[in-house]
Amino acid sequence: MVRTTPPRPLDITELFPGLREHSTTATRLHPRPGTPTTADSSVGGPLLWPAGEAWPVCDDAGAHEPYNLTTPAALRRRREILATANARTPQRHGDFLTAEERAELDAADALELDDLIDDPIPLIPVAQLYRRDIPDYAGPDGTDVLQVLWCPVDHSDRHYSPRVFFYWRDSSSVGPVLEAPPEPPVISELYLPVPCVVHPEQVREYQYADLLPDDLREQLDEWGGDDEDDEGPGYQSDLSLAPGWKVGGYANWSLSDPHPVDCEVCGTAMTLTFTADSADWNGTHCSWRPLEEDPDTSPDTVGVQIGRGYSLYAFRCPESFDHPPATAMQ
Ligand SMILES: [Zn+2]
Ligand SMILES: [Zn+2]
Repeated sequence: MVRTTPPRPLDITELFPGLREHSTTATRLHPRPGTPTTADSSVGGPLLWPAGEAWPVCDDAGAHEPYNLTTPAALRRRREILATANARTPQRHGDFLTAEERAELDAADALELDDLIDDPIPLIPVAQLYRRDIPDYAGPDGTDVLQVLWCPVDHSDRHYSPRVFFYWRDSSSVGPVLEAPPEPPVISELYLPVPCVVHPEQVREYQYADLLPDDLREQLDEWGGDDEDDEGPGYQSDLSLAPGWKVGGYANWSLSDPHPVDCEVCGTAMTLTFTADSADWNGTHCSWRPLEEDPDTSPDTVGVQIGRGYSLYAFRCPESFDHPPATAMQ
């Protein structure tokens, strides 16, 4: 099923034509649980990874923090138990788990895993994005797929979020595919995406208000729309930036206020490339909820939580795809 962003409540460029120069496109991914293959674009799905290429690890053990630790197997089993229990008792009243289910979850909670973060940790697949599916794909010439992986524990030097890695490939030259990539022996329970198929949709975005030229920002402030008691659409909430998992577009800096993201190798200002999010839209009254989606559906479709319901923005260097990505949590 396609997913369609509702039309914006108004065309903001009719009120403020100057915004047209501060506009770009983004591809909303609309990830939903499914069974993607290595030939598909996906979030949390299997990667088209060459059998002869070593699976990457994060060796930045000094930055690993022991929060919310579990194992991939224990987390998958936990999701299975909760799904079964939910189907049995949708209202979750009383003790909705059986004694056996409770005992199994308690045993998983008691695992001693802290020491495992001192070793290099195999990365986990976060997204695979084929150029043919993603209007806002960007990559080196000759590539047609971007693979996003992360080290699935908190990193003290990255505001307690995962460390992100980008790999670009030419899918026609991959050859035999790695059948069973190694899994990390330890992860944060917040950072293992449920395997999802994606429903890419290109949308238009307008720059975060505090990054607009002063005169334009002041005009938008006067126009209002973002106060809680305003009933009409707001620039920040409805008109500028799409929430959720996306490729391209702009970052929302509402947590820290904007700060520069410069390449650690060459100092160039970096470009937003990929966004992982705690929710695909923001609650029941969000104007960005796809038309096809039941209003009561949970917007947490991927099972990833960034901080307290934030987004993780991953940037690339526009000078060289070989320079490492950087992230900001907002
Ligand atoms: Zn790491
Ligand atoms: Zn650079």
